[in-house]
Amino acid sequence: MLLTITTTHQPATDLGYLLHKHPDRCQSFPLSFGQAHIFYPEASIKKCTAALLLDVDPVKLVRGRSSNLIQYVSDRPYVASSFLSVAIAQVFSTALNGRCKELPELVQTPIPLIANLSVLPCRGGEGFLRQLFEPLGYSVSAQGYILDEKFPEWGQSPYYTVELQNTVTLSDLLSHLYVLIPVLDDDKHYFVGDDEVEKLLRHGEGWLKEHPAQEQIIKRYLKRQPKLTRIALFQLTEEDEPDPDGAAEKQAEEEAAVEKPLSLNQQRLDAVVAALKNKGAKRIVDLGCGQGNLLKKLAKDGYFHKITGVDVSYRALERADERLERLSSSGNVQLMQGALTYKDKRLLGYDAAAVIEVIEHLDLPRLSAFERVLFEFAQPRTVVLTTPNIEYNVKFPSLTPGKLRHQDHRFEWTREEFQNWAKGIGEKFSYTVEFQAVGDEDLEVGAPTQMGIFSRK
Ligand code: SAH
Repeated sequence: MLLTITTTHQPATDLGYLLHKHPDRCQSFPLSFGQAHIFYPEASIKKCTAALLLDVDPVKLVRGRSSNLIQYVSDRPYVASSFLSVAIAQVFSTALNGRCKELPELVQTPIPLIANLSVLPCRGGEGFLRQLFEPLGYSVSAQGYILDEKFPEWGQSPYYTVELQNTVTLSDLLSHLYVLIPVLDDDKHYFVGDDEVEKLLRHGEGWLKEHPAQEQIIKRYLKRQPKLTRIALFQLTEEDEPDPDGAAEKQAEEEAAVEKPLSLNQQRLDAVVAALKNKGAKRIVDLGCGQGNLLKKLAKDGYFHKITGVDVSYRALERADERLERLSSSGNVQLMQGALTYKDKRLLGYDAAAVIEVIEHLDLPRLSAFERVLFEFAQPRTVVLTTPNIEYNVKFPSLTPGKLRHQDHRFEWTREEFQNWAKGIGEKFSYTVEFQAVGDEDLEVGAPTQMGIFSRK
């Protein structure tokens, strides 16, 4: 497996300083899975190319594992994969981390660079390769290969010879390669530990957050492990907020203050509990349970057998835990950290899901992911879901006109908007839906809270 990096920034041989590898020497480094050789096929003032030749030892790869044919015919020794990322991190670690004592300014300077990868598996094809690199400013050229000329019907191989050109810092180029090579390779057999999240976020710093294929990158990099993907996505989207949990707490108080005169919260919880009982639901999962208002009520009520609260906020769950602990009847309540926009096996096996004042906290583009997680994968018999009725906001004396009830609300819907959405869900996922107004109903603007009760057909 060969990676070359070329620059025409002059004097081009400065590349040797940036990589901490002298252009006149050929160096070799042992790695746990083989040997990395560094040499310079070309080193002149005008143009300099460094080559990293990775000699992956196929025997080392299978040693210690039960041998089977697949391992012996594996492509791993010959293609760019996470082994190349490991090699980059080991033999070019100073350059990857953007350090260079001799040329501290050049480290920070975008310079013309070309990376060539002799064999890059691109699962998802050339289109996906472009989706990954072009938003980062690369011009991409890729040569594909048909699997076997004698059998054209076998089609294209997933392997490409790829050239990536950009004016970037060397450290950025190496970071992009470090993360995106395993993403393209999408090999499912490689072990991923918890520290991979940290590595991904570190090497993705400054570009992953804005990358349009961010979600696919994270999912594939973390080998589609939902738990790790969730953690990474969450950390990435929340990192601007120094204390997201603290802010959520404060905002929840603000919302309660706006709605307080009606003690709307109580009326809402009563309506939800009544709807759950009406449907005969005894095993309840409360999605986006927050600090456990509903959980507490369900735990106190002898009707419910199994009660689980799920929230993405650890702080909210801790608070819920404290509040529940004070209840002697809280033994049948379980709390789990989870994001509602990712499929989660733990959500299976409940009679009903309660989703109380949660959807308006989801970004609209993520709402469809939540819909699938709940109505397509978890599929409880009943879903009781509430959300504010924006029409009613004119009735809140403390709310500035045009503002939503809560800083974190991404949207609030009119009755028509909510009902259209809910009916659409019913059609898509085979649920019937009834609507109920919660709180004092005004002739013109309706009630403050709208509730949808979904029943699986
Ligand atoms: N249902 C509770 C809390 C509503 S506030 C009540 O009625 O009191 C909304 C809650 O949804 C917050 O606790 C927030 O942490 C949670 N939340 C927002 N987005 C989420 C997501 N993607 N996954 C899981 N929980 C989420």
